[in-house]
Amino acid sequence: RAKSAGGNRFELADPEADARAITRHGLTTALPAALERGEFFIEYQPLVHLGDGSVRGAEALVRWLHPQHGVLSPDRFIPLAEHTGLIVPLGRWVLEQSVRQARAWQERRGGADVAGPLRINVNLSPCQLAHPGLVQDTVDILERTGVEPDALCLEVTESALIGADDDLLKPLRRLSEMGVDIALDDFGTGYSNLANLRRLPVSVLKLDRSFTQSMQQFPADPVDLKIVEGIVSLAHSLDLAVTVEGVETGAQAEQLRILGCDTAQGWYYARPGPPERLHELALVDATG
Ligand code: C2E
Ligand code: MG
Ligand code: MG
Ligand code: MG
Repeated sequence: RAKSAGGNRFELADPEADARAITRHGLTTALPAALERGEFFIEYQPLVHLGDGSVRGAEALVRWLHPQHGVLSPDRFIPLAEHTGLIVPLGRWVLEQSVRQARAWQERRGGADVAGPLRINVNLSPCQLAHPGLVQDTVDILERTGVEPDALCLEVTESALIGADDDLLKPLRRLSEMGVDIALDDFGTGYSNLANLRRLPVSVLKLDRSFTQSMQQFPADPVDLKIVEGIVSLAHSLDLAVTVEGVETGAQAEQLRILGCDTAQGWYYARPGPPERLHELALVDATG
């Protein structure tokens, strides 16, 4: 960390931390131009039905192809974009791109849609929730693309909704009434006030990867098994679907299926990839 050594002179106490700070600063200032230059792109990771193994949709995950640093993961730049407010236009871009992509998949799949049209999950940051244009932007994008609201699922983290007042929940309620699904992402990592669930306009719980990880061992930790079983049964009794993230092995998938989870996502099925890959996976699946 750079320490002030009087006047305008600085003394480098931790060169590595300093380099990180410079990169962070550099990335932050480069964000707006990156959006204009089209340096962001989206990868899609399939969402698979645990009962029959069919691909039901995909989660959109944004990446930044930085001219010097190569491909950057969202953990590197989303917090910076949130801090500067660029997340609003960036998030709108991700939403529009992803919904367009879903439309393209749906058109190419045509009559093969045995399990309903492919759905698209898009992450929303708390800043987007607080932004007054969210509902109208979403309505406009769905109308422009001709995608049905119920083919869209917006993912909001549990921590973003902890203690959320009614003003913050209002846009989510509007979207939910229109038929857009709202998922509670990374569920189980926060304070998980289960009673709070009733108050939230949420129709999907995305169980955090930490639960999936504890299904890795065999036999799995009996307490974790009980917890997941309890969450699933509560979720289902509240009419919520349960998606699990971070499924890396067939054993995990099987355990989570037995525990009653509905949908899964993870490297066991596919890593996030280009849209053509999702199309191939879904098509193969739909035609047998
Ligand atoms: P998330 O929404 O919880 O997304 C799941 C993350 O888990 C993704 O990381 C995904 O690549 C990773 N993952 C999927 N399957 C596996 C697995 O089997 N094993 C392991 N170890 N990891 C797996 P990614 O792509 O790096 O994204 C990180 C986070 O960045 C996301 O977490 C989400 O919170 C945020 N994010 C991504 N795209 C967007 C976006 O467009 N807008 C906003 N606001 N946030 C985004
Ligand atoms: Mg997510
Ligand atoms: Mg998640
Ligand atoms: Mg996560």
